[in-house]
Amino acid sequence: RNEALLQMQEQRESNARSYPRRLPLAIKRAEGIYITDMDGKQYIDCLAGAGTLALGHNHDVVREAIENVLQSYLPLHTLDLTTPVKEAFIDELFTSLPQSFSEKAKIQFCGPTGGDAIEAALKLVKTATGNRSILSFQGGYHGSTHGTLSISGTLGPKKNIHALVPDAHFLPYPYEYRCPFGVGKEGHRISSTYIENLLDDPESGIVTPAGVIVEVVQGEGGSVPAPIEWLKELRRITKERNIPLIIDEVQTGIGRTGKMFAFEHAGIEPDVLVLSKAVGGSLPLSVVLYDRQLDKWEPGAHIGTFRGNQMAMAAGQATLRYVKENQLPQHVHEMGAYVTEQLKSIQKQVLSIGDVRGRGLMIGIEIINPAKQPNQHGSYPAYSELAKKIQQECFKRGLILEVGGRFGTVIRLLPPLIITKAQIDEVLDRFYEAITNAEI
Ligand code: PMP
Repeated sequence: RNEALLQMQEQRESNARSYPRRLPLAIKRAEGIYITDMDGKQYIDCLAGAGTLALGHNHDVVREAIENVLQSYLPLHTLDLTTPVKEAFIDELFTSLPQSFSEKAKIQFCGPTGGDAIEAALKLVKTATGNRSILSFQGGYHGSTHGTLSISGTLGPKKNIHALVPDAHFLPYPYEYRCPFGVGKEGHRISSTYIENLLDDPESGIVTPAGVIVEVVQGEGGSVPAPIEWLKELRRITKERNIPLIIDEVQTGIGRTGKMFAFEHAGIEPDVLVLSKAVGGSLPLSVVLYDRQLDKWEPGAHIGTFRGNQMAMAAGQATLRYVKENQLPQHVHEMGAYVTEQLKSIQKQVLSIGDVRGRGLMIGIEIINPAKQPNQHGSYPAYSELAKKIQQECFKRGLILEVGGRFGTVIRLLPPLIITKAQIDEVLDRFYEAITNAEI
């Protein structure tokens, strides 16, 4: 029965699909960290809706929140109009933010996707500053619309889409394992000095941008955490020059990295914060939160239809409350440390893991080709074929995980935040068996 649905999908759905190619799965049911396919096979889901399912599948508090909306006969969709559910969601979100940011922030509801909110953030800073260009980072990912693709550092999806939005410039991200400036503290320092120089030297061709957009941990770029010192420097550089800093927490937000928001690790604050994925408690919702000084919008300057999904707001509020009441960020921090340590010990037992990294439960395992020569920094060539094979071997063993990264070589673990230590051990057992089989 799996096969029948997969065949129907193959015939009827667009060729642009990505996940089903690598994960041939027709889903019957899902609960917690588990997915059951149509043939009754159970999988551990370490993809979790691309990081969306903070509380896993069908968590009671999320289901209850959705059911309450249905019981109440509120309109399910309300454009930009307000309801008690909407105001309660805003309250919950604002009390989840660091106080100094929430005191100065305004919220803008966007279309349902992360990309919609990034588009709004770009228009917001352009409107507020009157400037045109956006600085973003190599390896960054912000969506697949024209605007968000233009500022994403991934070349593959751009190659047939000419005439992207102009005036995007890419800065080097401190990707420590493959850092263009070398590994370690010196590398980050050179990277931030380089950025400062680009902004200050008129011959760099970069005039004051409308904003700088960054992921605190690059997600699709391969679970690459930016060093704390570098983030502090980026905040200093942008603040001193009055350049709005947009932090894209579409993937890192709501506890994923071991803090409610990943920027909190660096003790910095954004001027503009973009949230989606987990903020809607697994239903589609996205928002931009920004310093109210940037609110230079004219009424109606950024409109759209689907900005009032009451079930997503209720599910989002329930998720935020659960994450706080159960100190999930602390749990994520502990589980993240545990899984990273265990993966580092697996790294010693196999040949093809070049790097294990992450923050909280946003883990990257970089697959290398040890048969080839390392470069001058000691990192081995990327090995995307093997990464895909490991993903397939995991899938066979009932473990769903993602392969991504700039070179297609990073195995990414993004389990629901509620995963337990015993469940992590199960993930690690399956992963170890898969990688040892794939290496043969
Ligand atoms: N920003 C980041 C950091 C993301 O990870 C993603 C999605 N993976 C997006 C933006 C775009 O979100 P969406 O796919 O919902 O448009």
